[in-house]
Formats: sequence, structure tokens, C-alpha cells
Amino acid sequence: MSQSKTSDAKFQKFIDNDSEMSSIIRSYDWENSSLGVPEKWPQSLLSLLSTMLSSSFPMLLWWGDDLVQFYNDAYRPSLGISGKHPKALGQTAKDTWPEIWHIIKPQIDIVIQTGQATWHEDQLVPIFRNNRLEDVYWTYSYSLVKDDGGNLGGVLVICNETTEKVIAQQQLEKSVNLLTINQTRLKYLLADAPVAISVLIGEEFIIENANKIILEIWGKTEQIIGIPLIEALPELQGQPFIPLLQEVLASGKPFHGNEVLALLEKDNEIFEMYSNFVYHPLKNADGHVNSIIVVGYDITEQVKARKELEKSKDKLELFITAAELGTFDMDLEKGTMDWDNRCRELFGITHQQPVTYDNDFVNGLHPEDRQRIIEIIDNVMIKAVNNGNYNITYRTIGAQDKKLRWIRAKGKVYFDKDEVPLRFIGSVLDISEVKQEEMRKNDFIALVSHELKTPLTSVKGFTQLLAIKAKEKQDNFTGGILERVNKQVMRMTEMINGFLNLSSLEESKVPLLKKSFDLEAMLKDLINECELTHPDYAIQFLPCKPTFVNADQNKVEQVINNLLSNCIKYSDKNTTIIVSCAIKNAEATVSIMDEGIGIKPNDINKLFDRFYRVENPVAKQVSGFGIGLYLCAEIIRQHNGKIWAESEFGKGSTFYFTLPIN
Ligand code: ADP
Repeated sequence: MSQSKTSDAKFQKFIDNDSEMSSIIRSYDWENSSLGVPEKWPQSLLSLLSTMLSSSFPMLLWWGDDLVQFYNDAYRPSLGISGKHPKALGQTAKDTWPEIWHIIKPQIDIVIQTGQATWHEDQLVPIFRNNRLEDVYWTYSYSLVKDDGGNLGGVLVICNETTEKVIAQQQLEKSVNLLTINQTRLKYLLADAPVAISVLIGEEFIIENANKIILEIWGKTEQIIGIPLIEALPELQGQPFIPLLQEVLASGKPFHGNEVLALLEKDNEIFEMYSNFVYHPLKNADGHVNSIIVVGYDITEQVKARKELEKSKDKLELFITAAELGTFDMDLEKGTMDWDNRCRELFGITHQQPVTYDNDFVNGLHPEDRQRIIEIIDNVMIKAVNNGNYNITYRTIGAQDKKLRWIRAKGKVYFDKDEVPLRFIGSVLDISEVKQEEMRKNDFIALVSHELKTPLTSVKGFTQLLAIKAKEKQDNFTGGILERVNKQVMRMTEMINGFLNLSSLEESKVPLLKKSFDLEAMLKDLINECELTHPDYAIQFLPCKPTFVNADQNKVEQVINNLLSNCIKYSDKNTTIIVSCAIKNAEATVSIMDEGIGIKPNDINKLFDRFYRVENPVAKQVSGFGIGLYLCAEIIRQHNGKIWAESEFGKGSTFYFTLPIN
């Protein structure tokens, strides 16, 4: 193809403008094109070109049957930097646009066939430019242009690339969609959130949003949305909430409320509501705080429960103080001990340091009680022994004041699932006065008993003397009466001895005289004696092998005799009493079983209390003071043994005691 410069004046006139495309068109080699030289181009083409080239709106023209292509400066950028320009000039539309021919050909055909202009907005027509096929969006129109004869001259394409705009729009749409999705999500999220949420807008705090929970708390429906907060909840007037919100709005700083009391109104009634909440400022696009999100939760139940607890704690403390109880709390895991002031007082402690088991408790115990209490506490830590129950009496010697105090301590050890002791809690009570009263009583009883014993011994002596005389005179009547007198004197002596034993035992006046002896042999002897004095009862003995215990023989005899005599007292004649002895775990266990009146479950644990007698018509007919079992229990306790009873009311009872064996 040779380049020829056309100089035709007519042509020059039409396309002589200073556009770049004008000069390119002018210098183009038209001779070898299907349009031929410009001198022969129709007037209509030339005037169209002239208009087109001077337009700053992108235009393209396809002329003639082959649709030879022209375009203006404004269109050039659409062809890309390393794109179709300048080859696109003078080529046919088909050759220039192979990649989109399948799209535009039908559109061109429609225009040619119908003569109607078409309009395509933001249409995706990917073209090859910048060395690749690019997604390009266009808004364009195709319109038919006529030649000088009024026939089809060509197709004028006025087109604008809108790729940037479309992509921006697409992105905007995407973000709008996303925003809508997020907003919807947020709305549902807020609606179903397990906390109370509301969004308040502007200085009037208009309720823009309020979820179910906050509406429930406020006792309102969604009707309050769009209303200023103070109108929705007029009861807030005078409460701190509106000023707090104003503060957050002004400062832009969040506010956290903890356990704040609000007085709200529901069904015309004011009620208290405690909540934890945050007022969080929300900024708008220009960075100003124009709304506040309120997030909170109702803690009324918890606060009220806590207050109730505090009240009952106060009450309990009041009771404890009124009852002059001291309390102790041992954390066995941490090895710490906590005593209240009263407890410290009862141990004569004046320091305010933390107390310890060894320094304050063990050292504070009366030396005579110390060993016994340590053993009891060791046992209380073993769940199997007594399920952690602790109920004892001991003496303390005040650490500072050296005062002797009698203490009644009650408590419980709590264990974990593996029976490891975790906590030991209880109370202590000063029973010194009661004890002193008791001791005074004991002294009196001892005195009276002692005083009674002398005349009674004389009565006994005289009775025996009279009995001998009556026998000599063969006065059977007097002899019979004297025998009955003697029996009554013996009973009275027994009772008086009981009282004397009681007082001597309680005051620990008589120490234990321990020695080793065979318990089994002792049981045999005592049973034989009992059989002789009470021939109406069958006493069976289930012996064990010789069993040596280190104990006070007289006292153990006293226990066995007491238990045997109770069996006789509380059983009908011609019934059986079974005595057995067994050895287990370094202990001898003696049991004495009768077929007597039995004991009700309610009474069974109280039998061993001082002066306890069962309220029962049968028991009432039997004389006694309720000290026999108490004495037994004291004696066994002093020997580090155990004593207890089992019974079925109406069928009989079994009394057990244990003694450590040698
Ligand atoms: P008492 O002098 O009243 O017998 P105890 O201390 O020996 O005093 O006994 C206390 C109470 O226990 C008795 O009053 C009686 O009601 C009851 N008791 C003791 N032993 C038996 C028994 N073997 N069977 C039924 N009840 C008994």
C-alpha cells in the first residue's frame, strides 16, 4: 500500500481541522481501499466526517457496503494504548472487530434492515486492547446515515465507554447489598440477642431500635420505636439515666453502669430493676457522635438474692451474737483456720493474728482433755466413723487470762466425693456456768449420798441383827418382812452408790486403775453371779477366746453389771438374755441382748444422757434415776471405747460396747 497525500480542495474543506485523526485520514492511502480516493467520496460522507472529527464525543463511522471504519480523536482512547489504533482506520468493521463481531453484527443488521437507530446502555462488549481481551462496558447508539442519493450510506456509532462507571456502580451495589445484608443480620442479631439492646438517636434520644429483651424490661411494645426515650419512659424523669446519656453524647466516651437501680413502671406500678449496662457512643460518617447504643442485662434476681442472703447473714450473725456462740471454720485443703472474736475469747486469745490448730486450739485445751479431743478430731476427719459429725465438751485454759472455761463444741466436717475432708465448720458455746451449776449439784448429791450412806449402813446392820433374832425365835413373819426391808435397803444402797459414782466420775476424782485382765473370764463370772441372783432369766453366753484388755476392772464390771441389770429390769421373767464377746480390729466388742420392752428410735441416742429416762408406762414402774447408762458411757469413753444400743420397740434391745485389746 502506497501513501498518497490527497489535496482535493473539497475534501480538504471538510476534513481540514486540527484534529489528529484529520491528518491521519488525510495521509491515509485511500487508493487501495474499497472507498477509493477521497476526491470521489460523496458529499454526505465528507460532511459527516467533518462533524465527527470536530466532535469531542467519541464517534465511529462505518461507511459503505463493507462498513469501512472512521473514528475521531475522542474515540481513540477506547481503542487502547497498544490497541487497534491506527490500524482500525480504513479497515472494515468486520476485520477490526473480530472478537465482538458476533455481538455487533446482529445489532448492525437490525439498524440497516429497519432503518431505526438503536441505543445500548452499559453493555458489556469485551474488546481486544492493551494486549488482552478486556471487559469493556459501553453506552452506544447505532444510527443509519444516508449517502448523497438518500440510500444507505453507513452506520454512525456514537459511543461512550462506561467501564469505570459500571464497575464503580457494581461495587457500590455490592457494598449496598452487603450493607443491607449486614443491617438485616444486625437487626435479627439485636432482636434475638440475649442481652437488652437499644439504639438512641440524637439529643432527644429517640428510640431507633429496641430488642425484645429491652422492651420486656421496659414493659413496652415496639410502639415506642421512633419516640424520645423520656416520652416512652416518663418514669425516668429525675433518675440518673438521661443525664448520663447526655454526658456520653457530649463527651463521646462510653459509660459503664454496675448494679444500677432503675425505677420502672409496668401496669401502673413502679418496680425496682437492677442492671449492668454500657452506653456506647456511635459516630456517624463525619465522625460526630449522634447516637448511643445501650447494651445491658437485668440482674435484679441476682442482686435481690444477694441482698436476701446478706440479710439472712446479718440475721444469723445477730443470732450467733445473741446466743454468744463462737464460730470456727477450718479450710482443710489450705490448712487455714478462721475463728470469730467470740471463739477467740473462749480460748482467752487477745491477739488478732490468724489462729492455728496447734498454737491456739491444741495449746488452749485443758491438759487433761487435750489427748481425748485430739483423738476425737482425728476421728471426725474419717467419714466412716461418724459422717463428720462433731459434738463434744471440753475445757480450755485461756491463753492470756488463764481462765478455765467449759466449752460445748458442735460442728461438721464436709468431705469430697472421695471422702477427703475439705472443711470443718462449727460453733462453740461457753457452758462454764451450767457446768458449775452441775458441779454444785453433784457436790450436793455426793454430800447427801454420803450422809445417807452412814445411817443406811446402820439400818442394814440392825436389819440383819433383827433377822438373826427372828430366825432364832422362828418368827417367820418378822423374818419375811426383814428380808423385804433388806432388799429395799440394798436397792437404796445401790442408788446411793450410783450417785456417789456419778459425782466422783464427773469430777474425775478417782483416776482409772488400769491393769490387764481377761474380759472373757470376767463376763463368765458376772453372768454366773447374775444367774444366781436372777434365776428367772436364762442367760446365754457366746464366748470368745481369752481376751486381755488393759482397763479398770471394777469400772468395766460396773458397766457389764449395769447393762445386765437393765436387761433384767426391762424384760419379762422367763425371757432369754444373750451375752457375746467378739474380737475385731484390735477391739473387743461385748453385746448384751434381751427380749424386753425395746426402745423407740427417738430415744435410742438419748439413753446415754445424764438423767435420761424413757417416757414409757413400763419403764416408769421400774425405779431408777437415768444415770446408769450415763455412767457406763463415761467409763467406756474414759477407756477410749464406744458404746451404743440397737433396738426394736416391743421386741428387745442389744447394748454394745468396745474396749481396745492389749
Ligand atoms: P435407769 O436407772 O432409768 O434404768 P439407765 O441410764 O440405766 O437408767 O437407763 C436409761 C433408760 O434407758 C431407762 O430409763 C430405760 O427407759 C432405758 N433402758 C435401759 N436399758 C434398757 C433395756 N435393756 N431395755 C429397754 N429400755 C432400756
